[in-house]
Amino acid sequence: MDSADLKRQRERKMRVARMKRNIIVFVIGLLLTLVGLCIALCVLMFQQSARIDRLEEMINSVASSDATVTGESSDSAGGSTVLAADNTTESGDAGDIVYGVNAHQDIYLTFDDGPSDNTEAILDILDQYDVKATFFVIGSKEKKYKKLYKEIVERGHTIGMHSYTHKYSSLYDSVESFAAEITKEQDLIEKVTGLRPWLFRFPGGSSNDVSNADMNDLISYLNDSGITYYDWNVVGGDATSKSYNTKDVLKSVSNDIGKYKTAVILLHDANTKTATVEALGPLIEMLLERDADLKAIDEDTPLVQHISYESVE
Ligand SMILES: [Zn+2]
Repeated sequence: MDSADLKRQRERKMRVARMKRNIIVFVIGLLLTLVGLCIALCVLMFQQSARIDRLEEMINSVASSDATVTGESSDSAGGSTVLAADNTTESGDAGDIVYGVNAHQDIYLTFDDGPSDNTEAILDILDQYDVKATFFVIGSKEKKYKKLYKEIVERGHTIGMHSYTHKYSSLYDSVESFAAEITKEQDLIEKVTGLRPWLFRFPGGSSNDVSNADMNDLISYLNDSGITYYDWNVVGGDATSKSYNTKDVLKSVSNDIGKYKTAVILLHDANTKTATVEALGPLIEMLLERDADLKAIDEDTPLVQHISYESVE
Protein backbone atom coordinates (compact mmCIF):
# COMPACT_ATOMS: atom_id res chain seq x y z
CA MET A 1 0.00 0.00 0.00
CA ASP A 2 1.58 3.24 -1.11
CA SER A 3 1.36 6.52 0.73
CA ALA A 4 -1.50 7.75 -1.51
CA ASP A 5 -3.62 4.76 -0.52
CA LEU A 6 -2.83 5.35 3.11
CA LYS A 7 -3.87 8.98 2.78
CA ARG A 8 -7.16 8.03 1.08
CA GLN A 9 -7.86 5.46 3.75
CA ARG A 10 -7.21 8.03 6.49
CA GLU A 11 -9.45 10.54 4.80
CA ARG A 12 -12.25 7.95 4.47
CA LYS A 13 -11.96 7.10 8.15
CA MET A 14 -12.14 10.76 9.03
CA ARG A 15 -15.22 11.22 6.80
CA VAL A 16 -16.92 8.23 8.43
CA ALA A 17 -16.04 9.56 11.89
CA ARG A 18 -17.41 13.02 10.93
CA MET A 19 -20.62 11.45 9.63
CA LYS A 20 -21.02 9.44 12.83
CA ARG A 21 -20.49 12.57 14.91
CA ASN A 22 -23.06 14.46 12.83
CA ILE A 23 -25.59 11.66 13.16
CA ILE A 24 -25.10 11.56 16.95
CA VAL A 25 -25.42 15.35 17.20
CA PHE A 26 -28.55 15.21 15.04
CA VAL A 27 -30.16 12.43 17.11
CA ILE A 28 -29.33 14.19 20.40
CA GLY A 29 -30.68 17.47 18.97
CA LEU A 30 -33.86 15.70 17.83
CA LEU A 31 -34.31 14.08 21.24
CA LEU A 32 -33.79 17.40 23.04
CA THR A 33 -36.28 19.11 20.72
CA LEU A 34 -38.85 16.37 21.36
CA VAL A 35 -38.34 16.57 25.12
CA GLY A 36 -38.67 20.38 24.92
CA LEU A 37 -41.88 20.03 22.90
CA CYS A 38 -43.29 17.56 25.41
CA ILE A 39 -42.52 19.93 28.29
CA ALA A 40 -44.07 22.85 26.40
CA LEU A 41 -47.19 20.78 25.65
CA CYS A 42 -47.50 19.71 29.28
CA VAL A 43 -47.23 23.31 30.47
CA LEU A 44 -49.81 24.38 27.90
CA MET A 45 -52.11 21.55 28.96
CA PHE A 46 -51.87 22.53 32.62
CA GLN A 47 -52.50 26.18 31.76
CA GLN A 48 -55.56 25.30 29.67
CA SER A 49 -56.87 22.96 32.33
CA ALA A 50 -56.51 25.70 34.96
CA ARG A 51 -58.27 28.08 32.59
CA ILE A 52 -61.13 25.61 32.08
CA ASP A 53 -61.44 25.25 35.86
CA ARG A 54 -61.61 29.02 36.25
CA LEU A 55 -64.20 29.29 33.46
CA GLU A 56 -66.25 26.52 35.04
CA GLU A 57 -66.14 28.35 38.35
CA MET A 58 -67.22 31.55 36.62
CA ILE A 59 -70.08 29.77 34.86
CA ASN A 60 -71.15 28.18 38.13
CA SER A 61 -70.96 31.48 39.95
CA VAL A 62 -73.06 33.17 37.26
CA ALA A 63 -75.55 30.30 37.29
CA SER A 64 -75.84 30.49 41.00
CA SER A 65 -75.39 34.20 41.30
CA ASP A 66 -78.90 34.55 42.64
CA ALA A 67 -77.49 33.02 45.76
CA THR A 68 -74.07 34.60 45.82
CA VAL A 69 -75.32 37.34 48.05
CA THR A 70 -77.71 35.54 50.23
CA GLY A 71 -79.17 35.42 53.63
CA GLU A 72 -76.28 33.15 54.46
CA SER A 73 -73.92 36.07 54.13
CA SER A 74 -75.66 37.69 57.06
CA ASP A 75 -73.66 35.25 59.16
CA SER A 76 -70.61 37.37 58.56
CA ALA A 77 -71.17 40.31 60.80
CA GLY A 78 -70.26 43.76 59.63
CA GLY A 79 -69.52 43.20 55.95
CA SER A 80 -73.01 42.17 55.00
CA THR A 81 -75.84 44.44 54.04
CA VAL A 82 -78.48 41.73 53.99
CA LEU A 83 -81.28 43.10 56.06
CA ALA A 84 -84.86 42.35 56.65
CA ALA A 85 -86.21 45.86 56.80
CA ASP A 86 -88.33 45.24 59.85
CA ASN A 87 -85.49 43.59 61.68
CA THR A 88 -83.03 46.42 61.45
CA THR A 89 -84.54 48.10 64.45
CA GLU A 90 -84.00 45.06 66.61
CA SER A 91 -80.27 45.11 66.19
CA GLY A 92 -77.75 47.37 64.58
CA ASP A 93 -76.01 44.39 63.08
CA ALA A 94 -77.97 42.17 60.74
CA GLY A 95 -75.47 39.37 61.26
CA ASP A 96 -76.51 38.95 64.88
CA ILE A 97 -80.24 38.99 64.39
CA VAL A 98 -81.93 36.00 65.90
CA TYR A 99 -85.65 36.31 65.87
CA GLY A 100 -87.52 34.84 68.83
CA VAL A 101 -87.93 31.10 68.47
CA ASN A 102 -91.66 31.16 69.14
CA ALA A 103 -92.40 34.60 67.72
CA HIS A 104 -94.86 34.93 64.91
CA GLN A 105 -93.38 35.24 61.46
CA ASP A 106 -94.48 36.19 57.98
CA ILE A 107 -92.85 33.91 55.44
CA TYR A 108 -92.78 34.63 51.73
CA LEU A 109 -91.97 31.85 49.29
CA THR A 110 -90.57 33.36 46.10
CA PHE A 111 -89.80 31.58 42.84
CA ASP A 112 -87.36 33.09 40.36
CA ASP A 113 -86.64 32.36 36.69
CA GLY A 114 -90.00 30.85 35.64
CA PRO A 115 -92.31 30.15 34.05
CA SER A 116 -91.05 26.69 33.23
CA ASP A 117 -92.32 23.18 32.76
CA ASN A 118 -92.24 22.93 36.57
CA THR A 119 -94.56 25.89 37.24
CA GLU A 120 -97.79 23.94 36.95
CA ALA A 121 -96.58 21.38 39.51
CA ILE A 122 -95.49 24.18 41.87
CA LEU A 123 -98.91 25.83 41.55
CA ASP A 124 -100.62 22.53 42.30
CA ILE A 125 -98.55 21.96 45.44
CA LEU A 126 -99.23 25.52 46.65
CA ASP A 127 -102.96 24.93 46.08
CA GLN A 128 -102.78 21.65 47.94
CA TYR A 129 -101.55 23.48 51.06
CA ASP A 130 -103.61 26.60 50.33
CA VAL A 131 -100.45 28.70 50.36
CA LYS A 132 -99.84 31.80 48.25
CA ALA A 133 -96.43 32.69 46.84
CA THR A 134 -94.63 35.17 44.62
CA PHE A 135 -93.26 34.41 41.17
CA PHE A 136 -90.52 36.59 39.73
CA VAL A 137 -90.81 35.64 36.08
CA ILE A 138 -88.75 36.30 33.00
CA GLY A 139 -90.07 37.16 29.53
CA SER A 140 -91.31 34.49 27.16
CA LYS A 141 -93.19 34.51 23.89
CA GLU A 142 -94.07 30.84 24.15
CA LYS A 143 -97.77 30.23 24.39
CA LYS A 144 -97.50 27.60 27.14
CA TYR A 145 -95.46 29.95 29.32
CA LYS A 146 -97.65 32.98 28.64
CA LYS A 147 -100.57 30.88 29.81
CA LEU A 148 -98.70 30.32 33.07
CA TYR A 149 -98.35 34.09 33.74
CA LYS A 150 -102.11 34.16 33.68
CA GLU A 151 -102.47 31.09 35.81
CA ILE A 152 -100.13 32.46 38.49
CA VAL A 153 -102.37 35.53 38.81
CA GLU A 154 -105.64 33.64 38.57
CA ARG A 155 -104.62 31.20 41.28
CA GLY A 156 -104.06 34.10 43.68
CA HIS A 157 -100.30 34.48 43.62
CA THR A 158 -98.25 37.60 43.04
CA ILE A 159 -96.45 38.00 39.76
CA GLY A 160 -93.27 40.07 39.76
CA MET A 161 -90.66 40.78 37.12
CA HIS A 162 -87.19 39.27 37.00
CA SER A 163 -86.09 41.01 33.75
CA TYR A 164 -87.12 40.03 30.24
CA THR A 165 -83.98 38.14 29.22
CA HIS A 166 -82.18 37.40 32.51
CA LYS A 167 -78.98 37.98 30.51
CA TYR A 168 -76.68 39.90 32.80
CA SER A 169 -74.56 41.31 29.97
CA SER A 170 -77.42 43.08 28.21
CA LEU A 171 -79.67 43.73 31.23
CA TYR A 172 -76.96 45.37 33.29
CA ASP A 173 -75.17 47.09 30.43
CA SER A 174 -76.69 50.51 31.11
CA VAL A 175 -79.70 52.22 32.68
CA GLU A 176 -81.20 52.40 29.19
CA SER A 177 -80.87 48.67 28.47
CA PHE A 178 -82.23 47.92 31.95
CA ALA A 179 -85.20 50.26 31.47
CA ALA A 180 -85.94 48.79 28.04
CA GLU A 181 -86.16 45.27 29.51
CA ILE A 182 -88.38 46.37 32.36
CA THR A 183 -90.80 48.15 30.04
CA LYS A 184 -90.85 45.22 27.60
CA GLU A 185 -91.62 42.79 30.41
CA GLN A 186 -94.19 45.03 32.05
CA ASP A 187 -96.00 45.40 28.71
CA LEU A 188 -95.92 41.65 28.09
CA ILE A 189 -97.27 40.71 31.52
CA GLU A 190 -99.91 43.41 31.41
CA LYS A 191 -101.04 42.25 27.98
CA VAL A 192 -101.34 38.63 29.11
CA THR A 193 -102.69 39.05 32.65
CA GLY A 194 -104.35 42.46 32.57
CA LEU A 195 -102.18 43.52 35.52
CA ARG A 196 -99.23 45.88 35.20
CA PRO A 197 -96.56 44.40 37.48
CA TRP A 198 -95.05 46.74 40.07
CA LEU A 199 -92.73 44.23 41.68
CA PHE A 200 -89.19 43.37 40.64
CA ARG A 201 -86.31 41.18 41.67
CA PHE A 202 -82.85 41.88 40.34
CA PRO A 203 -81.21 38.80 38.82
CA GLY A 204 -78.32 38.24 41.21
CA GLY A 205 -79.94 40.52 43.78
CA SER A 206 -79.59 44.28 44.25
CA SER A 207 -76.16 43.66 45.75
CA ASN A 208 -74.84 41.83 42.69
CA ASP A 209 -71.37 42.81 41.59
CA VAL A 210 -71.79 41.96 37.93
CA SER A 211 -73.67 45.05 36.80
CA ASN A 212 -71.87 47.35 34.45
CA ALA A 213 -74.40 50.06 35.25
CA ASP A 214 -74.32 51.67 38.69
CA MET A 215 -76.87 49.76 40.79
CA ASN A 216 -77.88 53.01 42.50
CA ASP A 217 -78.93 54.38 39.09
CA LEU A 218 -80.97 51.25 38.39
CA ILE A 219 -82.63 51.49 41.80
CA SER A 220 -83.39 55.17 41.18
CA TYR A 221 -84.96 54.20 37.86
CA LEU A 222 -87.21 51.66 39.61
CA ASN A 223 -88.02 54.22 42.29
CA ASP A 224 -89.03 56.80 39.66
CA SER A 225 -91.08 54.19 37.79
CA GLY A 226 -93.05 53.16 40.87
CA ILE A 227 -91.54 49.68 40.88
CA THR A 228 -90.58 48.05 44.19
CA TYR A 229 -87.83 45.47 44.34
CA TYR A 230 -87.40 42.67 46.80
CA ASP A 231 -84.31 40.63 47.48
CA TRP A 232 -84.34 37.73 49.93
CA ASN A 233 -82.91 36.86 53.33
CA VAL A 234 -83.28 33.07 53.27
CA VAL A 235 -82.13 30.77 50.48
CA GLY A 236 -83.53 27.43 49.42
CA GLY A 237 -80.09 26.37 48.23
CA ASP A 238 -81.46 25.52 44.79
CA ALA A 239 -79.53 28.19 42.87
CA THR A 240 -76.63 25.78 42.52
CA SER A 241 -75.82 24.03 39.27
CA LYS A 242 -74.87 20.99 41.34
CA SER A 243 -77.45 18.41 42.29
CA TYR A 244 -79.39 18.94 45.49
CA ASN A 245 -82.27 17.17 47.18
CA THR A 246 -85.14 17.81 49.56
CA LYS A 247 -82.87 17.43 52.58
CA ASP A 248 -80.53 20.11 51.22
CA VAL A 249 -83.40 22.55 50.67
CA LEU A 250 -84.85 21.99 54.15
CA LYS A 251 -81.41 22.38 55.72
CA SER A 252 -80.65 25.56 53.81
CA VAL A 253 -83.95 27.16 54.82
CA SER A 254 -83.61 25.98 58.43
CA ASN A 255 -80.23 27.71 58.68
CA ASP A 256 -81.69 31.21 58.42
CA ILE A 257 -85.45 31.04 58.75
CA GLY A 258 -85.35 31.68 62.50
CA LYS A 259 -83.56 34.99 62.11
CA TYR A 260 -86.26 37.16 60.59
CA LYS A 261 -89.73 38.34 61.41
CA THR A 262 -90.22 38.83 57.69
CA ALA A 263 -88.53 35.93 55.93
CA VAL A 264 -88.31 36.01 52.15
CA ILE A 265 -87.19 32.64 50.82
CA LEU A 266 -85.43 32.41 47.47
CA LEU A 267 -86.39 29.39 45.38
CA HIS A 268 -86.17 28.72 41.65
CA ASP A 269 -88.69 27.68 39.05
CA ALA A 270 -86.67 26.71 35.99
CA ASN A 271 -86.84 23.58 33.86
CA THR A 272 -83.83 22.09 35.63
CA LYS A 273 -85.23 22.61 39.13
CA THR A 274 -87.30 19.46 39.52
CA ALA A 275 -85.66 18.86 42.92
CA THR A 276 -87.25 22.13 44.11
CA VAL A 277 -90.65 20.79 43.12
CA GLU A 278 -89.96 17.61 45.07
CA ALA A 279 -88.83 19.62 48.10
CA LEU A 280 -91.73 22.06 48.08
CA GLY A 281 -94.31 19.97 49.94
CA PRO A 282 -91.93 18.97 52.76
CA LEU A 283 -90.67 22.57 52.91
CA ILE A 284 -94.18 23.99 53.31
CA GLU A 285 -94.95 21.39 55.97
CA MET A 286 -91.80 22.37 57.85
CA LEU A 287 -92.70 26.07 57.65
CA LEU A 288 -96.31 25.49 58.71
CA GLU A 289 -95.02 23.89 61.89
CA ARG A 290 -93.71 27.33 62.85
CA ASP A 291 -95.99 30.06 64.10
CA ALA A 292 -96.03 31.65 60.68
CA ASP A 293 -98.20 32.93 57.87
CA LEU A 294 -97.10 31.92 54.39
CA LYS A 295 -98.00 34.79 52.12
CA ALA A 296 -97.53 36.31 48.69
CA ILE A 297 -95.73 39.66 48.61
CA ASP A 298 -98.12 42.60 48.49
CA GLU A 299 -98.02 46.37 49.08
CA ASP A 300 -97.91 45.83 52.86
CA THR A 301 -94.93 43.50 52.88
CA PRO A 302 -91.94 45.07 54.67
CA LEU A 303 -89.07 45.65 52.30
CA VAL A 304 -86.32 43.05 52.20
CA GLN A 305 -83.49 44.54 50.19
CA HIS A 306 -79.76 43.98 50.09
CA ILE A 307 -79.17 47.61 49.17
CA SER A 308 -81.55 49.81 51.09
CA TYR A 309 -84.09 51.59 48.92
CA GLU A 310 -83.91 54.63 51.15
CA SER A 311 -80.15 54.86 50.85
CA VAL A 312 -80.46 55.70 47.16
CA GLU A 313 -81.25 59.27 46.24
ZN1 LIG B 1 -82.77 34.58 38.38
